[in-house]
Amino acid sequence: MEPSTRSKAIMEFLKPRVGARVKSWLEICTKCGQCADTCHFYLAADRDPKMIPAAKVKYLSEIIRRKGEVDDEFIQKAYDCIYHECNMCRRCTQFCPFGINIADMIALTRALLFSQGVCPEALRSAIKNYHETGNQMGVSEEDWLDTLTWCEEEMESEIVGLKIPVDKVGAEIMYTINAREAKFYPQDIQEVAKIMHVAGASWTVPSKRGWDDTNLSMFVGDLKTSRTLVENTFARATELGAKKVAITE
Ligand code: SF4
Ligand code: SF4
Repeated sequence: MEPSTRSKAIMEFLKPRVGARVKSWLEICTKCGQCADTCHFYLAADRDPKMIPAAKVKYLSEIIRRKGEVDDEFIQKAYDCIYHECNMCRRCTQFCPFGINIADMIALTRALLFSQGVCPEALRSAIKNYHETGNQMGVSEEDWLDTLTWCEEEMESEIVGLKIPVDKVGAEIMYTINAREAKFYPQDIQEVAKIMHVAGASWTVPSKRGWDDTNLSMFVGDLKTSRTLVENTFARATELGAKKVAITE
Protein backbone atom coordinates (compact mmCIF):
# COMPACT_ATOMS: atom_id res chain seq x y z
CA MET A 1 0.00 0.00 0.00
CA GLU A 2 1.31 3.49 -0.85
CA PRO A 3 2.31 5.37 2.34
CA SER A 4 -0.15 8.20 1.66
CA THR A 5 -3.02 5.76 1.22
CA ARG A 6 -1.96 3.90 4.32
CA SER A 7 -1.60 7.03 6.44
CA LYS A 8 -5.10 8.11 5.45
CA ALA A 9 -6.50 4.71 6.42
CA ILE A 10 -4.55 4.71 9.69
CA MET A 11 -5.79 8.13 10.70
CA GLU A 12 -9.37 7.24 9.79
CA PHE A 13 -9.09 4.20 12.03
CA LEU A 14 -7.55 6.13 14.91
CA LYS A 15 -9.78 9.21 14.79
CA PRO A 16 -12.77 7.73 16.66
CA ARG A 17 -10.51 5.68 18.95
CA VAL A 18 -7.95 8.19 20.15
CA GLY A 19 -9.79 10.65 22.32
CA ALA A 20 -8.90 12.62 25.43
CA ARG A 21 -8.29 9.50 27.48
CA VAL A 22 -5.64 7.95 25.24
CA LYS A 23 -4.05 11.33 24.54
CA SER A 24 -3.75 12.07 28.25
CA TRP A 25 -2.28 8.62 28.93
CA LEU A 26 0.37 9.34 26.33
CA GLU A 27 1.09 12.77 27.77
CA ILE A 28 1.13 12.13 31.51
CA CYS A 29 3.58 9.22 31.64
CA THR A 30 6.43 10.50 33.82
CA LYS A 31 8.77 7.65 32.80
CA CYS A 32 9.03 6.81 36.48
CA GLY A 33 9.65 3.17 35.62
CA GLN A 34 7.40 1.76 38.32
CA CYS A 35 5.71 -0.44 35.74
CA ALA A 36 9.03 -2.04 34.70
CA ASP A 37 9.27 -4.82 37.28
CA THR A 38 5.62 -5.76 36.80
CA CYS A 39 6.30 -7.04 33.28
CA HIS A 40 7.42 -10.64 32.89
CA PHE A 41 8.92 -9.85 29.46
CA TYR A 42 11.13 -7.18 31.06
CA LEU A 43 12.26 -9.53 33.82
CA ALA A 44 12.84 -12.42 31.43
CA ALA A 45 14.97 -10.21 29.17
CA ASP A 46 17.45 -9.26 31.92
CA ARG A 47 15.68 -5.94 32.44
CA ASP A 48 16.15 -4.80 28.87
CA PRO A 49 14.89 -1.16 28.93
CA LYS A 50 13.00 -1.61 25.67
CA MET A 51 10.81 -4.16 27.44
CA ILE A 52 9.57 -1.63 29.99
CA PRO A 53 5.78 -1.43 29.51
CA ALA A 54 5.79 2.33 29.07
CA ALA A 55 8.31 1.96 26.23
CA LYS A 56 6.00 -0.36 24.29
CA VAL A 57 3.45 2.32 23.56
CA LYS A 58 6.01 4.35 21.64
CA TYR A 59 4.75 2.81 18.41
CA LEU A 60 1.25 4.12 18.97
CA SER A 61 2.46 7.57 19.99
CA GLU A 62 4.85 7.67 17.03
CA ILE A 63 2.08 6.70 14.59
CA ILE A 64 -0.09 9.49 15.99
CA ARG A 65 2.78 12.00 15.93
CA ARG A 66 3.60 11.15 12.31
CA LYS A 67 -0.07 11.26 11.36
CA GLY A 68 0.10 7.68 10.12
CA GLU A 69 3.09 8.27 7.81
CA VAL A 70 4.97 5.08 8.69
CA ASP A 71 6.74 2.61 6.44
CA ASP A 72 6.73 -1.20 6.29
CA GLU A 73 9.83 -1.43 8.47
CA PHE A 74 8.13 0.59 11.20
CA ILE A 75 4.99 -1.55 10.95
CA GLN A 76 7.10 -4.70 11.27
CA LYS A 77 8.88 -3.36 14.36
CA ALA A 78 5.55 -2.39 15.92
CA TYR A 79 4.20 -5.86 15.15
CA ASP A 80 7.23 -7.58 16.73
CA CYS A 81 6.82 -5.52 19.89
CA ILE A 82 3.08 -5.73 20.44
CA TYR A 83 2.81 -9.44 19.69
CA HIS A 84 6.15 -10.80 20.90
CA GLU A 85 6.94 -8.51 23.82
CA CYS A 86 3.51 -8.10 25.43
CA ASN A 87 0.62 -10.46 25.98
CA MET A 88 -1.72 -7.79 27.33
CA CYS A 89 -1.81 -9.35 30.79
CA ARG A 90 -2.57 -5.87 32.19
CA ARG A 91 -0.28 -6.26 35.17
CA CYS A 92 1.58 -3.01 34.45
CA THR A 93 -1.72 -1.14 34.44
CA GLN A 94 -2.43 -2.27 38.00
CA PHE A 95 0.81 -0.70 39.21
CA CYS A 96 0.99 2.59 37.32
CA PRO A 97 0.41 5.34 39.90
CA PHE A 98 -1.30 7.42 37.21
CA GLY A 99 -3.64 4.68 36.05
CA ILE A 100 -2.18 4.65 32.56
CA ASN A 101 -3.64 1.66 30.74
CA ILE A 102 -0.71 0.30 28.77
CA ALA A 103 -2.56 -2.89 27.80
CA ASP A 104 -5.43 -0.91 26.32
CA MET A 105 -2.99 1.03 24.19
CA ILE A 106 -1.23 -2.16 23.09
CA ALA A 107 -4.68 -3.57 22.21
CA LEU A 108 -5.41 -0.45 20.20
CA THR A 109 -2.11 -0.83 18.35
CA ARG A 110 -2.99 -4.44 17.57
CA ALA A 111 -6.40 -3.38 16.30
CA LEU A 112 -4.77 -0.70 14.18
CA LEU A 113 -2.36 -3.17 12.60
CA PHE A 114 -5.20 -5.63 12.03
CA SER A 115 -7.10 -2.89 10.21
CA GLN A 116 -4.06 -2.71 7.92
CA GLY A 117 -4.06 -6.47 7.35
CA VAL A 118 -1.20 -7.17 9.77
CA CYS A 119 -1.67 -9.92 12.37
CA PRO A 120 -0.36 -13.43 13.16
CA GLU A 121 -1.34 -15.91 10.47
CA ALA A 122 -2.91 -18.35 12.95
CA LEU A 123 -5.23 -15.65 14.25
CA ARG A 124 -6.13 -14.55 10.72
CA SER A 125 -7.05 -18.14 9.91
CA ALA A 126 -9.13 -18.51 13.09
CA ILE A 127 -11.05 -15.32 12.30
CA LYS A 128 -11.76 -16.56 8.78
CA ASN A 129 -13.09 -19.78 10.28
CA TYR A 130 -15.26 -17.85 12.75
CA HIS A 131 -16.85 -15.99 9.86
CA GLU A 132 -17.42 -19.09 7.76
CA THR A 133 -18.48 -21.58 10.43
CA GLY A 134 -18.81 -19.76 13.77
CA ASN A 135 -15.89 -21.66 15.30
CA GLN A 136 -12.13 -21.15 15.20
CA MET A 137 -11.34 -24.59 13.77
CA GLY A 138 -13.74 -24.42 10.83
CA VAL A 139 -15.73 -27.46 11.98
CA SER A 140 -18.93 -27.82 9.96
CA GLU A 141 -22.25 -28.28 11.72
CA GLU A 142 -22.44 -31.78 10.24
CA ASP A 143 -19.02 -32.73 11.64
CA TRP A 144 -19.85 -31.20 15.02
CA LEU A 145 -23.01 -33.25 15.35
CA ASP A 146 -21.24 -36.34 14.05
CA THR A 147 -18.53 -35.89 16.71
CA LEU A 148 -21.13 -35.59 19.48
CA THR A 149 -22.90 -38.70 18.19
CA TRP A 150 -19.85 -40.96 18.13
CA CYS A 151 -18.62 -39.54 21.45
CA GLU A 152 -21.94 -40.54 22.96
CA GLU A 153 -21.98 -43.98 21.29
CA GLU A 154 -18.47 -44.74 22.50
CA MET A 155 -19.34 -43.83 26.10
CA GLU A 156 -22.62 -45.71 26.17
CA SER A 157 -20.66 -48.96 26.29
CA GLU A 158 -18.87 -47.64 29.37
CA ILE A 159 -21.75 -45.97 31.22
CA VAL A 160 -25.23 -47.21 30.45
CA GLY A 161 -27.69 -44.46 29.72
CA LEU A 162 -25.12 -41.72 29.21
CA LYS A 163 -26.26 -39.10 26.70
CA ILE A 164 -24.98 -35.86 25.25
CA PRO A 165 -28.22 -33.88 24.97
CA VAL A 166 -28.20 -31.62 21.91
CA ASP A 167 -30.47 -28.56 21.70
CA LYS A 168 -32.49 -29.64 24.71
CA VAL A 169 -34.91 -26.83 25.42
CA GLY A 170 -35.25 -25.99 29.11
CA ALA A 171 -31.95 -27.51 30.24
CA GLU A 172 -30.39 -25.56 33.09
CA ILE A 173 -26.86 -25.51 31.70
CA MET A 174 -25.76 -24.91 28.12
CA TYR A 175 -22.26 -26.29 27.77
CA THR A 176 -19.81 -24.78 25.29
CA ILE A 177 -16.30 -25.88 24.36
CA ASN A 178 -13.05 -24.80 22.77
CA ALA A 179 -13.47 -25.90 19.13
CA ARG A 180 -10.06 -27.57 19.32
CA GLU A 181 -11.73 -30.24 21.46
CA ALA A 182 -14.09 -31.15 18.64
CA LYS A 183 -11.16 -31.40 16.26
CA PHE A 184 -8.32 -32.81 18.38
CA TYR A 185 -9.49 -33.63 21.90
CA PRO A 186 -12.99 -35.15 21.78
CA GLN A 187 -12.13 -37.14 24.90
CA ASP A 188 -12.50 -33.84 26.80
CA ILE A 189 -16.14 -33.65 25.67
CA GLN A 190 -16.61 -37.24 26.82
CA GLU A 191 -15.10 -36.55 30.24
CA VAL A 192 -17.42 -33.60 30.79
CA ALA A 193 -20.39 -35.68 29.66
CA LYS A 194 -19.48 -38.27 32.28
CA ILE A 195 -19.32 -35.61 34.99
CA MET A 196 -22.67 -34.16 33.94
CA HIS A 197 -24.21 -37.63 33.87
CA VAL A 198 -22.90 -38.68 37.27
CA ALA A 199 -23.86 -35.30 38.77
CA GLY A 200 -27.35 -35.67 37.34
CA ALA A 201 -27.04 -32.23 35.74
CA SER A 202 -29.68 -30.77 33.47
CA TRP A 203 -27.50 -29.80 30.51
CA THR A 204 -27.35 -29.47 26.79
CA VAL A 205 -25.01 -28.62 23.94
CA PRO A 206 -26.07 -26.30 21.11
CA SER A 207 -25.89 -27.63 17.57
CA LYS A 208 -25.56 -24.28 15.86
CA ARG A 209 -23.03 -21.40 16.01
CA GLY A 210 -22.31 -20.47 19.62
CA TRP A 211 -20.90 -23.81 20.82
CA ASP A 212 -17.28 -22.63 20.47
CA ASP A 213 -16.53 -20.45 23.50
CA THR A 214 -13.16 -19.17 22.27
CA ASN A 215 -12.84 -15.58 21.13
CA LEU A 216 -9.47 -15.29 19.43
CA SER A 217 -10.55 -12.23 17.46
CA MET A 218 -10.19 -10.32 20.72
CA PHE A 219 -6.42 -10.77 20.51
CA VAL A 220 -6.16 -8.76 17.30
CA GLY A 221 -8.66 -6.15 18.44
CA ASP A 222 -11.32 -7.30 15.97
CA LEU A 223 -14.17 -6.28 18.23
CA LYS A 224 -16.84 -6.73 15.56
CA THR A 225 -16.11 -10.45 15.27
CA SER A 226 -15.67 -10.73 19.04
CA ARG A 227 -19.10 -9.29 19.56
CA THR A 228 -20.68 -11.63 17.02
CA LEU A 229 -19.21 -14.65 18.79
CA VAL A 230 -20.59 -13.59 22.16
CA GLU A 231 -23.95 -12.84 20.54
CA ASN A 232 -24.02 -16.31 18.97
CA THR A 233 -23.61 -17.97 22.36
CA PHE A 234 -26.14 -15.65 23.97
CA ALA A 235 -28.66 -16.32 21.19
CA ARG A 236 -28.33 -20.11 21.58
CA ALA A 237 -28.72 -19.89 25.36
CA THR A 238 -31.80 -17.70 24.94
CA GLU A 239 -33.37 -20.01 22.36
CA LEU A 240 -32.80 -23.03 24.57
CA GLY A 241 -33.93 -21.22 27.72
CA ALA A 242 -30.72 -22.16 29.54
CA LYS A 243 -30.15 -20.51 32.91
CA LYS A 244 -26.37 -20.82 32.80
CA VAL A 245 -23.66 -21.07 30.17
CA ALA A 246 -20.76 -23.26 31.22
CA ILE A 247 -17.49 -23.06 29.34
CA THR A 248 -14.69 -25.53 29.05
CA GLU A 249 -11.48 -25.44 31.12
S1 SF4 B 1 4.38 3.46 35.89
FE1 SF4 B 1 3.00 4.70 34.64
S2 SF4 B 1 3.91 6.73 34.67
FE2 SF4 B 1 5.49 5.32 35.37
S3 SF4 B 1 6.63 4.77 33.49
FE3 SF4 B 1 5.02 3.24 33.77
S4 SF4 B 1 3.30 3.98 32.55
FE4 SF4 B 1 4.69 5.71 32.85
S1 SF4 C 1 0.38 -5.80 29.67
FE1 SF4 C 1 2.16 -6.17 28.39
S2 SF4 C 1 3.62 -4.63 29.01
FE2 SF4 C 1 2.10 -4.76 30.64
S3 SF4 C 1 2.94 -6.23 32.11
FE3 SF4 C 1 1.61 -7.38 30.71
S4 SF4 C 1 3.01 -8.12 29.12
FE4 SF4 C 1 4.08 -6.47 30.19
